[in-house]
Amino acid sequence: MQTILTGVRANEEPTIGNFLGAYKSMVNLANEHSANSNINMFVPDLHSFTTPIDHSKLYAQVIKGIKYYIAAGLDANNPNIHIYRQSHVPAHSELAWILDCFTYFGEASRMTQFKEKSEEHADAITVGLFNYPILMAADILLYDAKYIPLGEDQFQHLELTRDIATRLNNKFGEDLFTIPAPEKEQVKFMHLEHGLRIRNLVDPSKKMSKSSENEKTKISLSDDPKAAAKKIMSATTDSEGVIRFDMINQPGISNLLTIEALLTDRNIQDVIADWAGQTSYGDLKRKVADTVEHFLADFQEKVANITDEQVEQVLAKGEEYANRVANAKLAKVQKAVGLIK
Ligand code: ATP
Ligand code: MG
Repeated sequence: MQTILTGVRANEEPTIGNFLGAYKSMVNLANEHSANSNINMFVPDLHSFTTPIDHSKLYAQVIKGIKYYIAAGLDANNPNIHIYRQSHVPAHSELAWILDCFTYFGEASRMTQFKEKSEEHADAITVGLFNYPILMAADILLYDAKYIPLGEDQFQHLELTRDIATRLNNKFGEDLFTIPAPEKEQVKFMHLEHGLRIRNLVDPSKKMSKSSENEKTKISLSDDPKAAAKKIMSATTDSEGVIRFDMINQPGISNLLTIEALLTDRNIQDVIADWAGQTSYGDLKRKVADTVEHFLADFQEKVANITDEQVEQVLAKGEEYANRVANAKLAKVQKAVGLIK
């Protein structure tokens, strides 16, 4: 049975970028494939403090992250859907160390996200921040996951995972790890034309990020729906004066069209056609603001109805499964590298 796997780091409140790039892609794939695939959705809580966070809030944030997965539409009662915390499956950390020793400093240094994030957090560039793509490789390889629904920003890390896995397979045998599918195949599997990158509302040349300190740049899943609608109304656009889908010259407008299509489950081309040639940015903003407001109100109501007890049950089942699969793979690797007989 093939495995589809993804996770969203629990450091800050997730945004609609995370929702659309990771949660929703995963829920769509679960609906399509859960009869004959493992659907692994985990909270990468060990990744949470590669950049500074408020540790007193972490545990609650992780539990909330699990509620978000369920509220987004993952059916935790489905026997093929597994929801778990990375830190509760120790094999992730153990495999990460082994993979570290087969990853070259030069190739890890090329990760653009490390470069960007070290600029943002110049006072606290930790080894953990540098190392996290290799822990991410362990997260994927432990479960032989072939498809990893991710936003566009994570494709470079996926490519690194493929390189590390191929290197170990060449050295220790082709059946050690399943190599995740390349970017093009991933995008096709998600029924997309290209990787998703929801834009920053203030500077649409950048992606929306949950760790951004400027609240106006992002819509968080816990935002007051009315306040979120206001952020859409004041999103940066351009002075072209005509609604067109053009990510290069009109990234702000194109971003609004994308958000509208994805949140209303409509084909992006249909939404573009509806607005083609219209000149009122205000009308488009009002429509998207309304969509975002309704989406958040509905989503937050679903989250509020999920109890901590439900989360505990889901995790008990998911973590039993994850430890079983991950420990078996770890033992195989330990044997390959000569640690056990
Ligand atoms: P941070 O700023 O803390 O890195 P982030 O918003 O980039 O937060 P991650 O936890 O790094 O979120 O990523 C979780 C998932 O969400 C990944 O699959 C990532 O590709 C996806 N994702 C993040 N930002 C976007 C975005 N703007 N558009 C689409 N997908 C996104
Ligand atoms: Mg990120």
